[in-house]
Amino acid sequence: MKGLMTERPLRIADVLEFAAEVHPAAEIVSVRDEGDVHRETYREAANRVAQLAHGLRRLGIKPGDRVATLAWNGYRHFELYYAISGIGAVCHTINPRVPDDQLTYIVEHAGDSLIFADLSLVPILERLAPTLPAGLRYGVLTDAAHAPQSSLELIVYEELLAAEEPLMDWPELPEDTASGLCYTSGTTGEPKGTLYTHRSTVLHALFVSVSLPKILRTGRRILPVVPLFHVNAWGLPYSAPLTGASLVMPGAKLDGPSLFEVMERESVFSAWGVPTVWLGLLAEIEAKGRLPKGLGSIVVGGSAAPLAMVEAFEKKGVDVCHAWGMTEMSPIGTVGEFSDHHAGLSGADRNLQKAKQGRRVFGVELKIVDDDGQKLPHDGKAVGALYARANTVTSGYFRNEAANEAVFDGDGWFQTGDIASIDPDGFLTIADRLKDLIKSGGEWISSIDLENVAMGHPEVANCAVIAVADAKWGERPLLVVVPGETQPSKTEIFALLAEHFAKWQLPDGIVFAENLPLTATGKVSKRTLRKIYAQHVPTDDDKAALVGAMEARGE
Ligand code: AMP
Repeated sequence: MKGLMTERPLRIADVLEFAAEVHPAAEIVSVRDEGDVHRETYREAANRVAQLAHGLRRLGIKPGDRVATLAWNGYRHFELYYAISGIGAVCHTINPRVPDDQLTYIVEHAGDSLIFADLSLVPILERLAPTLPAGLRYGVLTDAAHAPQSSLELIVYEELLAAEEPLMDWPELPEDTASGLCYTSGTTGEPKGTLYTHRSTVLHALFVSVSLPKILRTGRRILPVVPLFHVNAWGLPYSAPLTGASLVMPGAKLDGPSLFEVMERESVFSAWGVPTVWLGLLAEIEAKGRLPKGLGSIVVGGSAAPLAMVEAFEKKGVDVCHAWGMTEMSPIGTVGEFSDHHAGLSGADRNLQKAKQGRRVFGVELKIVDDDGQKLPHDGKAVGALYARANTVTSGYFRNEAANEAVFDGDGWFQTGDIASIDPDGFLTIADRLKDLIKSGGEWISSIDLENVAMGHPEVANCAVIAVADAKWGERPLLVVVPGETQPSKTEIFALLAEHFAKWQLPDGIVFAENLPLTATGKVSKRTLRKIYAQHVPTDDDKAALVGAMEARGE
C-alpha cells in the first residue's frame, strides 16, 4: 500500500533559507584575498545569494548551464554554491592546483559557460585563456575598487550583485536536478566528474549532521581547511548552515602559523582537513607551547591520519574524529565520533580506535568482499575490497560511460578502490588504496600500516611507503622519510618497524627527503614518488641497518 504523505522535492536553496530564518546570527567569517577579514550572518548571506541569483539570470545563465569557480574558501564562493544551484544551474568547483592541461580539459569537458575566480587566481585564467573555449566568460570575486587590470573582460562580482533584489522566489526543481560538479584526477586517464543532485546534497548534509552531533550544532565555530573545490569542503557549506554552526573560511594561506592565528582569533572549535595540514598546525602548537584558544576538535580525512597524530592531538585534549570518504560519495562515508558505549575507552585503546577510519554515517551501507565478490565478515580481521551504496553515492561519471563499467558490481554497489576491514563495532580500517598496496612474493603489504608505525618515531616528521619493482619479489616496499629537527638513524627506524612487522614486510630501504610531493588535493602523491624512486636499489647502509635491527630482535 502506498502511503499518503506529501512529497516535496529536496532543494539546496531551502538549506540557506532555513539557516537565515532559524539561525540568523550564525556567521561566515572569511579571510579575503583583498587582505582583510569579512563577516556576514547567514541572513545576510541569503540576501546576497538572492541578488547573485538575479545577477546570474541577467547574464543569461539558464537551468543546466555549468558555472565554474576557481576560488579559495570564502563567503563569495559559498554564495556562488547556493545561487548557481538555486536557479537550476550547476556549480562546477575547479581545483586551482591541478596542472594546466587538466584544468583546460576539465573546463572543456564540463562545458562551462562562465567561470568566477578569486583575485589571486585570475592570472591562471589569463594564462590559460588562449586554450580555453572561445565562448567562456570570466568573472572576478571582488569589488570595483579591487578589480584588476586584465587581458580578460572580467565581470566584477560585487557590481553584478549591487543592482539586484535581495529576495528570491526560488524555482521549483525536480530533486534529481544536477546541482554541483567535481572532478577527481585519477591515477590513470583523464579526470572524472561526479555530478551531485539537490537530493544527494541535502541528504548528505542531513546524514552527516546526525552522525556528528557533538560538532555540527548551533554555537559551534568550524574551520574548513578542506577546500570548497575539493568535494564541497566535505559538505560543510550545507551541514553547517543546516545545524546553525558558523563557518570560518581561511582564504589562501593554510600554513601552520596562519591557521593558528585565524583559529585563535575566531575561537574555532572544530577544524577539518587532510593530515598534511595538521602536521603544520601541530608544529606551530609545539612552537607556541599551547593550543589555539577554543580548539576542541579536529576532523581529519582525505588520507589516513597516522596514530602518532591522533596521539599528539588527544594528549592535548583535542578530540580527533577520523573520517573517510571520496568525491564519488559526496564525500563522507564514515566518521569517528564515539557513542556512549565508548565512554570506558581510554589511553592507548582509545587512540587505536580513533586511528581507525570511523563508522558509517546514517544512510551509507558498506561491504567488503573477497576476490570472488563474496561478502567477508565484519570481524576486524578479514580484509577485502570495499564497496559502498547510498543515496549520496554517484550512479555514474559525467559524460564518461566507459569509466562506469569498472566500478559498479552486479547489484549496483560502488567499488571504492580501497582495501579495508571492518571491526565488530563497525569501525572501518583502510588497509590501503588498491593501487598503493605492495605485492611482494604474492603477499600484500599495507603501505599505511608501515607509515603509521614509522610516524611513531619522534624524528620522523612525515613519511610515505611506496612499491618499487623487484626482479625476485615483484614489488618491495621503500620508505621515504622527511626528518624532523635531526635525522633519525636508519637502524632506529628499522628497529621500530621490526617491533610490529615480519621481516618480509619491512622496507628494503629508507631514503631521506626534504619534503613529500603533494597532489592537488594536499595528499602525498605516491604516483610521483613511485616515478622518482622507480630505479631505487637498497644501499649498503640500508642492508647493514636492516641486519642490525634483525639482530637486535634475535633473528
Ligand atoms: P578523493 O576522492 O580525492 O577524496 O579520494 C578518495 C580516496 O582518498 C579514498 O578512496 C581513500 O583511498 C582516500 N581516503 C580518504 N579518506 C581517507 C582516510 N581517512 N584514510 C585513508 N584513506 C582515505
